[in-house]
Amino acid sequence: MTKKLSAMDRAEPFKIKVVEFIKKTTRDYREKKIKEVGYNVFFLTSDDIFIDLLTDSGVGAMSDNQWAGIMVGDETYAGSRNFYHLKEAVRDIMGFPYTVPTHQGRGAENVLDRVLIREGDAVPGNKHFDTTKAHIEDKKGTAVDVTIDEVYEPETLHPFKGNLDLKKLEKVIQKYGKERIPYILITITCNSGGGQPVSMENIRQVHEMAREYGIPLFYDAARFAENAWFIKQREKGYEDRPIREIVGEMMSYADGLTMSAKKDAIVNIGGFIAMRDKELYQKCAAMGVLFEGFPTYGGLAGRDLEAIARGLYEGIRLDYLTSRISQTHYLGNGLKDIGIPIINPIGGHAVYVDGKKFLPHIPQTQFPSWTLSVELYLESGVRGVEIGTILEGRDPKTGKERLPRLDMMRLTIPRRVYTNNHMDVVVEAMEAIKARKDDIVGLRFDYEPPVLRHFLCTLERVNE
Ligand SMILES: *Cc1c(COP(=O)(O)O)cnc(C)c1O
Repeated sequence: MTKKLSAMDRAEPFKIKVVEFIKKTTRDYREKKIKEVGYNVFFLTSDDIFIDLLTDSGVGAMSDNQWAGIMVGDETYAGSRNFYHLKEAVRDIMGFPYTVPTHQGRGAENVLDRVLIREGDAVPGNKHFDTTKAHIEDKKGTAVDVTIDEVYEPETLHPFKGNLDLKKLEKVIQKYGKERIPYILITITCNSGGGQPVSMENIRQVHEMAREYGIPLFYDAARFAENAWFIKQREKGYEDRPIREIVGEMMSYADGLTMSAKKDAIVNIGGFIAMRDKELYQKCAAMGVLFEGFPTYGGLAGRDLEAIARGLYEGIRLDYLTSRISQTHYLGNGLKDIGIPIINPIGGHAVYVDGKKFLPHIPQTQFPSWTLSVELYLESGVRGVEIGTILEGRDPKTGKERLPRLDMMRLTIPRRVYTNNHMDVVVEAMEAIKARKDDIVGLRFDYEPPVLRHFLCTLERVNE
């Protein structure tokens, strides 16, 4: 599905100027540590982790050019020149004339939703990210998932599994009526769906439907550049188009976007809202003052704004995107080659191991993918994260365990941070785990917090 790439294509278009040492630990040490933290990898300190694949958010390596930008940060309360650089970069790359900076993606979601959502409204979209959904619900709206059914089928090879189902979308529009739908949201790439891309054709069709009904279209654009790369790789007619043009066309169909710059702008902190409409800008700027700060800094330092402006240009480089996504695929294919069940096709920023299928003797109520993340840490000091039953939580009404169809361990690749040798460590560890997997026992709660239990729970082995 993805075109064959040469070694030159896959090679990183940069060399390493600064390194940070990471600690290799012994199995005994890790055994002690994971017990101390109640088998919850969120409680591990980074010093005890060798390779951290918890997230790709805010953990990328900035370039020398971005660090140089940090040094020319203009820390002026109102009118920092770095804000104008950011605004110009957004206009140049994405085509939106107005930008409201925010401290990160969820800050952008909060401000936009406060302006646009009224009680009882619905926001249809493709598997809204958890903070996105939480902000819609916080404003008494409903996030309605209209992703194509294929996203729930780990084996199905579909080149654009993040696509929206137009029939489902139309039904939602007819059910709620356009007055109750403040906007349609396309998440590119679809993070909660496994980093799966959305095709240009699908984006265009959603845009046309949105226009027909007079509903604005927004993007959750955290990984917009990775989405453009997949379009170039997989969609007919885009093979020879530069990434910038593809991004430009994608953006031309939207009224605006929220952005977590911690992803494709390759910075450690930051985000923004961008839009076409002046009146919407004025409302968001005013709301932003209340929650984020004056509209030329938005909860960030001038230096952060500069790093985002520069990072946006680096994030859309074809050579960088090819090497980045090749690394994710290198890990995924390495796991496939040794018979580890993963979600197909491999997405842009992460590889998802099907924990339920890998450890079929562990019932879902004993958290197979969470157990696997514990085993991976024990085996190698690598930290992955469960996207499964513990994350899903109990039904708030009945208090019963909800058992999601997909129970997975996510291995998320930070940008420009690790080498393929590090990916080999993960594959080797998974091979060792595979050899002893029938002896692995599941987990039960020792302490289960009432909400967002994955962050703060502690567990024990079921045979303890
Ligand atoms: C990370 C992310 C967000 C939230 O952004 P933060 O910067 O973490 O607040 C929203 N949507 C998607 C798709 C994301 O990946």
